[in-house]
Amino acid sequence: MSKPMQPKHQNRFNRTSLYKPTGEVVRHSEYPCRLNFYLRPPPVEISVEDFERFALDRLQVLKTIENATLRNKKADEFRREMDRVSSEHMRMRTGHTKEAMEDRKKDHVSHFILRLAYCRSEDLRAWFLRQECALFRYRFELESRKDKEVFLKSLDINWKVVSQEDKMNMKAELESCAIWTAKAAGIQNVKDFVENETYFEVEFEKVPDLIGRRSVLVRRGKAFVPMTEQISLVMDEFKARLSKALEATAKALPRMDEDERLKPVLLNVEKQYTGKDYGDVTNVTGKVKASEVDGLSQHFPLCMSNLHQSLRKDKHLKHGGRMQYGLFLKGIGLSVEEALVFWRKAFGNHTDDKFQKEYSYNIRHNYGLEGRRVNYAPYSCMKIIQSNQPSTGDHHGCPFRHFSAQSLEATLYKNKVGAPQVNEIVRLAKDRHYQLACTRYFEVTHPEMQSGQVGTIEHPNQYFDMSQGKLPDSDAMTTD
Ligand code: SF4
Repeated sequence: MSKPMQPKHQNRFNRTSLYKPTGEVVRHSEYPCRLNFYLRPPPVEISVEDFERFALDRLQVLKTIENATLRNKKADEFRREMDRVSSEHMRMRTGHTKEAMEDRKKDHVSHFILRLAYCRSEDLRAWFLRQECALFRYRFELESRKDKEVFLKSLDINWKVVSQEDKMNMKAELESCAIWTAKAAGIQNVKDFVENETYFEVEFEKVPDLIGRRSVLVRRGKAFVPMTEQISLVMDEFKARLSKALEATAKALPRMDEDERLKPVLLNVEKQYTGKDYGDVTNVTGKVKASEVDGLSQHFPLCMSNLHQSLRKDKHLKHGGRMQYGLFLKGIGLSVEEALVFWRKAFGNHTDDKFQKEYSYNIRHNYGLEGRRVNYAPYSCMKIIQSNQPSTGDHHGCPFRHFSAQSLEATLYKNKVGAPQVNEIVRLAKDRHYQLACTRYFEVTHPEMQSGQVGTIEHPNQYFDMSQGKLPDSDAMTTD
């Protein structure tokens, strides 16, 4: 794969390919319409800041799609969610204005950044492919017929058009398959529909969904697809091309000369948390006393209540647990002084001397008072789920990801979750939808929260806030 983009150390794009020097907009053949199959890398230079911002903006859109799909949102709800997230993060304006060109360029660039980030494993590729297909379908369905035609023409896809003569020879069979399609298109007379419709001849494997609902005629391995159903064909092309491109990128990656400044962004983007910034604790510090933690633990998510209970039982936590739990407590409002009191009491079996030597440094370090003096942020769900896998004797991690199905089931029953919901949550966890499983757990254990208010749990501190009746607020964003 050729080098797709060169980051620039300026806060501006190289605009020479899209705009005249005066800033007057020229119509550029690169973006004739809003749809894009992303066949070529974007011909632009971007700043490192934009590189990260574009990736996170697209990630917000893809995560919204994932969330809506997993929650089986109805078509109109899905459209509403998509309209909202698109207008906030990835606008796609119509026409050929300067703003519209910027939108399309951002769309193009951000797709390629995430392609680089998500080609690195089979799971990531599958996730990216699923969400990108859904995004493309949503946009394709919104597009005008004229723009769709312009776009498809530009792709040069060789779909064989069925001649009028061949069409007439199969007229009766085509009519019997077209009843549903004609009705959906608002056409009552099926005969007229078939006569006026353009049909494409394609391999039958390309349109399993149309065959499944008996909307196409299949003869000798070929399917005859009406133009009205072209979305199935387009999606098949989009999926096949993107899937191939992702594999090619994955193969090329080890040979690619990745910029050292971009590596951390690419390696971590899928772990990025894009909600409220829980790293800034200035507003909450001092709100919680060490003696109040036990009482507040009823509001903790399972990952933190598991750590809290293990700490009380063993009077000790290993390093991974201390980091995960300590930073969470910092995020809920424990000051460094109260944290020292809390952990000293919790480690009741240790002498003062041992505690001072082995543990107090780490606690102060978490608050940025030792070592490199970095003010560490509480971990997001993605970070907990994807980094530092727990091993024997560890209690950190996410129960939905790291517990066995039996342990998770037992924990849920112990927390008074009913059998049907336990099955549902365990199934979600088994299908690797860990945060959604956590969200369902939250919904089941907080029936007072109205459905739809919760969104998806992305951060243990978000869970804690919501459990206390504070609704999510993503005004302040963080990237970790
Ligand atoms: S999904 Fe997040 S908040 Fe929920 S248990 Fe896992 S890590 Fe904790």
